[in-house]
Amino acid sequence: MTTLDDALATFATRRPVLVALDFDGTLAPLQDDPQTSRILPDGVTALARLAATDGVSLALVSGRSMNDLHTLAEVPAGTFLIGSHGAERARVTTFGLDRDVVQLSDEQADRLASLGAQALRIARGRDGVWVETKPTAVVVHTRLAEDEVARPAEDEAIALGEQLGSGVLHGKDVVEISVLRASKGEALVALRDELGASVVLYAGDDVTDEHAFEALGPDDVTVKVGDGPTAARYRVGSPQELVAALVALADPH
Ligand SMILES: [Mg+2]
Repeated sequence: MTTLDDALATFATRRPVLVALDFDGTLAPLQDDPQTSRILPDGVTALARLAATDGVSLALVSGRSMNDLHTLAEVPAGTFLIGSHGAERARVTTFGLDRDVVQLSDEQADRLASLGAQALRIARGRDGVWVETKPTAVVVHTRLAEDEVARPAEDEAIALGEQLGSGVLHGKDVVEISVLRASKGEALVALRDELGASVVLYAGDDVTDEHAFEALGPDDVTVKVGDGPTAARYRVGSPQELVAALVALADPH
């Protein structure tokens, strides 16, 4: 079996390629306050170097809203940003974000408003549970809640999404209920096809990244960050280890 180092050495010889990476828990160590998450400094340098390499496209693929991702991600112009698990997409330019517009139907907009109100009811009176509203989804966060508070809140949020026939994603300490069908896998494959990338590197740490691992092919390099079952071919223990691999990829000499 080849190691990740071997796979990346081969990857480095291919063109054109797409380097696509999850943000939280992958490039940026997980934080209790998600607004303090940052890409590890060596990672920022490695991404800038990769993005400046001929035939290499760079993308961040996150569950975060586009605004959030753009604010926190220190990435060079030309980088593609995929937010809200694939429901939002944009490209970073020197003048700001060039966004693909998300257009909700009236029915979807109504459903989003109703989901928001019901999610707030789930969070009410529960310490450490809060609700985030995105352009296409409502998210119930439980990262700061005790287990016995978090679990019933997550169960209720899942039930709410299923009852309304919306897409439900259950990640680490989050339940996201989306009014658009989207997944990191679909968004990643669409970008890959548009770019005509011959091979893709994708790394992620959460259950929602499994959609991306499963959507890619046997020649692609898929990397799970941390523990847990995965469809990815390779594994590293931490964001620090992943960033070390990106540093080596960005500067193979
Ligand atoms: Mg993540």
